[in-house]
Amino acid sequence: MRIRVAGRMLRTSRRFLGVTAAAIATILVGTLPSAGADKPPSPSEYIDHVGGEAKLVPPGALRLDGNRMICGHRPTVLDDSLDDYAAAYPGFLIINPKLMNRISTPVKMWIFAHECAHQFRGPDEETADCFAVQRGRRERWLTEEGLEEVCAFIKPAKADMMHLSGSQRCEAMQRCYKDPSVR
Ligand SMILES: [Zn+2]
Repeated sequence: MRIRVAGRMLRTSRRFLGVTAAAIATILVGTLPSAGADKPPSPSEYIDHVGGEAKLVPPGALRLDGNRMICGHRPTVLDDSLDDYAAAYPGFLIINPKLMNRISTPVKMWIFAHECAHQFRGPDEETADCFAVQRGRRERWLTEEGLEEVCAFIKPAKADMMHLSGSQRCEAMQRCYKDPSVR
């Protein structure tokens, strides 16, 4: 149920940051023996589960290309083995630093903001995209050029059960970026 993205430039199939907070909890909790069926794992349960190589970064301590990244009081787990750029469980974010190193700063920050949006706005992907670009506009780390980079990044993504196609998501984000009413 986690989603594969056909990235043109990527040799390995990548999964987009499409896993929603709710969905990833449903999907991954089952693979974590210590977690109850309906309880998301804690960051340390997650780290134990992936083999202890992952690292916990306390809330507010994460930096992406020198930018301090904040998602309320949520910590971030750095996990090179995550099969996506980033993901979210209720209560914490997961980032794959190895994949993140390949993309530009605004795209990294947009990914973080998108996953953060799931913490506060729930599983809807379009809402998370919109939240992320509006936060970027407000905090001035996402310019129109940066949004073009985000669009180029997601354009190869195909539509699936949870996501519109990359170009539809891009169009929605461009509308949202210009929309003065905050979502
Ligand atoms: Zn998402």
